[in-house]
Amino acid sequence: MAIILVVEDEESVRELLRLYLEKEGFQVELASDGEEALKKMSRISPDLVLLDLMLPKKDGWEVCREIRKTSYVPIIMLTARGEEFDKVLGLELGADDYVAKPFSPRELVARIKAVLRRFNASSGGGKTWEALGLRIDYEAKKVEIKGKEINLTPKEFELLWFLVNHPQRVYTREQLLEYVWGYDFAGDARTVDTHIKRLREKLSEGGISSSIKTVWGYGYKFEPER
Ligand code: CA
Repeated sequence: MAIILVVEDEESVRELLRLYLEKEGFQVELASDGEEALKKMSRISPDLVLLDLMLPKKDGWEVCREIRKTSYVPIIMLTARGEEFDKVLGLELGADDYVAKPFSPRELVARIKAVLRRFNASSGGGKTWEALGLRIDYEAKKVEIKGKEINLTPKEFELLWFLVNHPQRVYTREQLLEYVWGYDFAGDARTVDTHIKRLREKLSEGGISSSIKTVWGYGYKFEPER
């Protein structure tokens, strides 16, 4: 049964969501502000997060950014009517979808199911990723190319995991620093270049060197060759 973490400060909306989602067979956990959300995140490891944008203590943007430092859990943002919602920023921060309030429960449930399906198809439930002879086991921190294990440093591993789970999207060095190294990392964008270089070298030994593309003047993207 999928666990959904509902982060919503309005009690009536929170309880309504709990009712609908439980009726649909989801297990529901609740948080009423940003700090509680992050505490629950580390404790229950949900399958999806429904994240209200305007929250006390830490807002939805900040919570999303914090979650993405350590987790690729699908995130659907809830936005209030009349609230300016920056879709591009939302997607950049790693939100998977957004739903505007007031929403129809049926539509919200359909969106949740669609995001979960997409996530499970692309990441094998978020624990393993496999395609084109490359197999990554996130829990075991193991990478195999055509059945042969290759050794990556923890940051190379995190970088690869991030890229394969966000294929065809271009990320700047600064974005990769933020998502993979963390928001407060006081590093240099060249850190990303050296890690990409080593990652490519290691992958190329298994014959998949062309998967991480340089997008000139912008950054990098993962684009597996077919
Ligand atoms: Ca709110």
